[in-house]
Formats: sequence, C-alpha cells, structure tokens
Amino acid sequence: MRIFVPRETHPGETRAAVTPETAARFVQLGAEVAVESGLGAGIGVADEAYTESGASVSANRGASLGEADLVLRVRKPPAEEVELLKSGSTHVSLLEPFNEQGLVESLAARGVSALSLELIPRITRAQKMDVLSSQANLAGYVAVILAAERLPRILPMMMTPAGTIAPARVFVIGAGVAGLQAIATAKRLGARVDAFDTRPAVEEQVLSLAARFVKVDLGETGQTEQGYARKLTEEQRGMQTEAMARVCVQSDAVITTAQVFGRRAPVLITKETIARMRPGSVIVDLAVESGGNVEGVEADREVEMNGVRVVGLANLPGRVAVNASQMFASNVYSLIEDGWDAETKAFRVDPEDEIVKGCLVTHAGEVVNEQLRKAQRV
Ligand code: NAD
Repeated sequence: MRIFVPRETHPGETRAAVTPETAARFVQLGAEVAVESGLGAGIGVADEAYTESGASVSANRGASLGEADLVLRVRKPPAEEVELLKSGSTHVSLLEPFNEQGLVESLAARGVSALSLELIPRITRAQKMDVLSSQANLAGYVAVILAAERLPRILPMMMTPAGTIAPARVFVIGAGVAGLQAIATAKRLGARVDAFDTRPAVEEQVLSLAARFVKVDLGETGQTEQGYARKLTEEQRGMQTEAMARVCVQSDAVITTAQVFGRRAPVLITKETIARMRPGSVIVDLAVESGGNVEGVEADREVEMNGVRVVGLANLPGRVAVNASQMFASNVYSLIEDGWDAETKAFRVDPEDEIVKGCLVTHAGEVVNEQLRKAQRV
C-alpha cells in the first residue's frame, strides 16, 4: 500500500501528520511511504530524516496524490486537490465535516473513503487515536503561556523584602481536555485558579487539580453518551453569563474553552462583562475556531476592548508543533495500525468496525456518516 503525506498548505500550519518515527513504523508494517519535500519544515525535521526512516521524498505533489492508496494529513484537503486523489483511495485528516458539506460531497463523488479525525468515537479503545484530545491538551497549555506573557503581572505569589505579591487569578471556563490542562498549567505557574463547566461530572476533576469550582445552579445540564456537553436553554445561558461575569471581574486572566460538539460555541463573555473587567486583564478564547466564547473576539487576532486584551489566535497546538506533531502522528498511526491487514499489507476500511464507523464520512461514492447526516437534518 502506498501512503503519501503532503505538506500542509493551510496558512500558518506548522504541524505534520507523520513524523520520521511514525514513518518508520508504517514502513515496518509493510507500507511504501512517500512524504512531500519540506513536510517537516515546521518541526525542524529535514527531508533526510524521513529518508532515513525508510520513506521516499516526493517533489511532485500532484502525481504523488494520484498514486497514493492512503493520504494522511493534518488539515482537510484543499477543494481543488480532491480530483487529484485516486478513486478508491482512503483519506485521513481533520475535515471540519459539519462546515464542509461541499467538500464532503466532492470526496464522495470522487470515490474516496474519507475518515474525519474529529469524529473518532470517544471510547476507551480509541483513546490513543484521539486527535481532538491530544491537540486540545496542548492548546490548554499554550493558552496559559500566552496569557502569562501578556499579563502585566506575575502569576505566582512571592514573599520578598519588598513586599508580598498576591498570586494572579486565572479563571478557566470549560473544563474538558483543554480546560483541565489550562488549570494544571496555571496552577504549576502559581496562579489561583477558578473553573467552571456545565457538566457536573467535572467538579471532582477540577478539585483534584487544587482549583476552585465555581458553583452555578443552572438546573438540568448533563452530558451526552460521548461525554460532550449538551446545549443550554436560553434562560440557562443568561444565568451563566451573569455568574461568569462575577468571576471574570475578579480575574487577571480568563481562558475560555467551552464548546458543544458540532455546534457553534456558546457566547459566555459579553461586551458588558468585558467592560466590567480590570484593564490589563487578558482573555484567551480557545473556542475561537468554532465561533468563540467571547463577544467581539476576532479569529487569529488580538484585540483590545476597554483595556482588556482578547486573544483569538487560532491553531494554538501549532505553536508547539514539535509535540503537537508527535502526538498527532502517533494518533494517526494508531488508527491505521488498528485497521491494518498484515496479509495484504494494507489499511482496510471496515465500515462495520466501531471506530471506522464513527469517523468514516464518505465510502463507495456515498456520504455515509450517521452523525453528519443527523446534523445536516437539524
Ligand atoms: P469540548 O472541547 O467539546 O468542550 C470543552 C468543555 O466545554 C467541555 O468540558 C464542555 O462540558 C464545556 N462546555 C460546553 N458548554 C459550556 C458552557 N456553556 N459553559 C461552560 N462549559 C461548557 O470537550 P472535550 O474537552 O473535547 O471533551 C469533553 C469530555 O469528553 C472530556 O472532559 C472527557 O470527559 C470526555 N472525553 C472522553 C474520551 C474517551 O473516553 N476516550 C476522550 C476525550 C474526552
């Protein structure tokens, strides 16, 4: 089986879907691996490192896309590259399937089996393939580092002959994978941390990181079978916004990570809340790529509102691309290895397999994903 890994073309994308380490493992499985020249440029890896791991280096992206049985990449394919893919081949990447109906349809029409990494089911067997978790974890870390660097004050408490400095206060909204890592990172840096999430199950995890859980009685909230938050009602949203505002005004940094899978992120910090916050404070909005938790946040920009800096930088894992690629590549390898047929030395798309079924979006000329079909009906 021929695997091809093209360079990422999305502006600012530094990550690579395959590292020399995982390339070597694919070769061990019996695959023929080709990477596009420059694939490792964002992670300090030269073409030679891939060659040493047994891969070949291609300078002809179009031809290599057309020859590959399996294409691996971080981001969705550019629309104009779909027709270059071989009919019957498999494509594995993030796909933003809920926003990319046209792209999904064109992959189906091309006869490509596309696996969308966002849709890997959150079951124990798939944990090592869970790209959303591995990348969110790093994003949570980076968010705190960005905030710390922008704050005009330090995070830890310091007792010095020149006086005692109180710890900075960090408020983390949404304590999923990214939020929990943000809490842990802010704690390690010595901040006093408050956190909130609508899923009651999270309280214990927040407390175990020695952060304070902000209690807001929103009535029934809960989570889906996959562990995702449910959408709140209008009234619950209003109650939450006010409760969040009360903590925001006392905080130096606010990290927002609240998302509802497959939907636009809820707006939790309004302009009125920002107007009540202390000048010099910083908000980092990790949900910016799904619409943002902060009113007025701008994607991939930093804006100032009433002296409060609102950071909407996109692709935070890309800022620690070495580790992000290491984890992403390991996730992708685990997914492929799981469906590898040792006899034919090929990845077999088995639509009946629980993991493949969850993330297979197009197959045999059709859009096949149940979650996606449901989302498109509502
Ligand atoms: P996510 O990125 O979809 O959302 C981030 C957080 O925002 C979630 O904790 C969510 O509850 C919270 N949120 C949503 N609306 C909110 C609101 N209005 N106010 C405050 N918070 C709000 O979630 P995620 O981090 O990708 O994962 C969520 C959970 O899924 C994890 O905490 C974990 O328990 C579970 N999970 C399970 C597995 C597995 O079993 N393999 C893998 C990964 C995650």
